Amino acid sequence: MTDCLFCKIVAKEIPAKVVYETERTLAFGDLNPQAPTHVLVIPKGHYQDAAALAAADDGLADEVLKTAHAVAVQEGVADSGYRLVFNTGPQAGQTVFHVHGHVLGGRDLQWPPG
Ligand code: 5GP
Ligand code: ZN
Repeated sequence: MTDCLFCKIVAKEIPAKVVYETERTLAFGDLNPQAPTHVLVIPKGHYQDAAALAAADDGLADEVLKTAHAVAVQEGVADSGYRLVFNTGPQAGQTVFHVHGHVLGGRDLQWPPG
């Protein structure tokens, strides 16, 4: 997609702090971190939200989940605990419409979320 922020990060047209990468996924630091560890995990291909990714039906959603866990291990939050969030749709707070999982950790996280 030409006018998508995260597609531009994949294409390296916009800089990002990449922390982990596989053939089909990319993980990079959130611009406005909400926790000591706050990494976004995306498929390199464009899917607008978790529903579209779930429908991809080619193991890509599985790969995104595995990348998210690998990021948590690499960033040292897997043992203490981390949260994986896919805001899906405007009412749930999605603002960038290229599916992304937030990997949040490094501090106590409250429940329920706001
Ligand atoms: P959403 O609200 O869609 O779940 O999450 C979008 C996230 O993207 C936000 O946490 C926001 O801080 C992050 N973000 C927005 N623009 C950029 C950017 O240009 N670079 C990076 N690394 N993160 C961004
Ligand atoms: Zn995109």
